[in-house]
Amino acid sequence: MRVGDLTTPALLVDVDALDANLADMSAALPGSKLRPHVKAHKTTALAARQADGGHTGFTCATIREVEGMAKAGLGQDLLLANEVLDARRLGALDARVTVAIDSPSTLRAAVDGGVREVLVDVNVGLPRCGIAPDRAGRLADDARAAGLTVRGVMGYEGHLMMLADPVERARLTEECMGRLLAAHADVGGDVVSGGGTGTYAMNTWVTELQAGSYALMDTAYTAAGLPFRQALTLLSTVVSTTDAAGEMPAFAVADVGLKSLGMDHGNPTVQGGHVWFCSDEHTTFGPERRVSVGDRVTVLPAHVDPTIALHERMHLVRGTDPDAEVLDTWAVDLRGW
Ligand code: PLP
Ligand code: MN
Repeated sequence: MRVGDLTTPALLVDVDALDANLADMSAALPGSKLRPHVKAHKTTALAARQADGGHTGFTCATIREVEGMAKAGLGQDLLLANEVLDARRLGALDARVTVAIDSPSTLRAAVDGGVREVLVDVNVGLPRCGIAPDRAGRLADDARAAGLTVRGVMGYEGHLMMLADPVERARLTEECMGRLLAAHADVGGDVVSGGGTGTYAMNTWVTELQAGSYALMDTAYTAAGLPFRQALTLLSTVVSTTDAAGEMPAFAVADVGLKSLGMDHGNPTVQGGHVWFCSDEHTTFGPERRVSVGDRVTVLPAHVDPTIALHERMHLVRGTDPDAEVLDTWAVDLRGW
């Protein structure tokens, strides 16, 4: 199969860019210093490549991701870095599963689900999950009293990932990690887990970094100055054009829209065009040169995770030339809840 034979919209992964990203991150954070987050790609075939690179512990966001990783034989050390109130499907898995807890209810759910190991999730500044640092030790004591092994703490400084100024990002990361280390002093255990692609180079306080987006990347992280390559693109087809007639400047319409793109980080980027707006199934853009109905255009997503979650498969390619061979097709097999 050739790129030109693919039905659009189609997710393409440039295999050289992916390999470069994986290698660069492995050089920065070898082995267990990186616990790749699978929510970014939701693809066990890609996770297997990360495991081949020496990262055998993974971060997951959903029970389904944990199950899929276990079934794929990648369950050596899975962290569900998220709060769950029904952990019954986790205890029975043929995998080592550690779950984040931040309340008596999530602690109880872990016990009831047959989970044996937990991390105390600490609020380090992002108003999402996590217990207040000064209450973390007490929750750890309760977890141990309930028979759980407390491996340590996690705290995600997600509000800092896209800060444009890296000096400010580093300063605030230190502040957030100060909160996590204070909690760790009370909680104990070997694990201090946190961070993401945006802080991978500056978060030197964690024992393991939970980066996900670095593998495939998106335009938001590129704009934030991250050094990884844009491996993920969305191949689309121009389905309509108009000539510059009347007051209307010329525009063209590609067959990708809100239903094939995660839009919370803004519009996608169209190569060779300026995006006007996206609607359900369309992206209207001003082309930089003449385009015709049937032309293929390459679209760069602004946010990798929610984009991938909309697709069933990704195609591995070298370049987007219509004659380029589709080297492999990977199922996005960790989708759903
Ligand atoms: N850890 C947690 C708990 C997250 O929710 C996320 C992303 O939202 C990450 C880590 C880092 O992911 P990324 O590297 O894609 O920014
Ligand atoms: Mn994301």
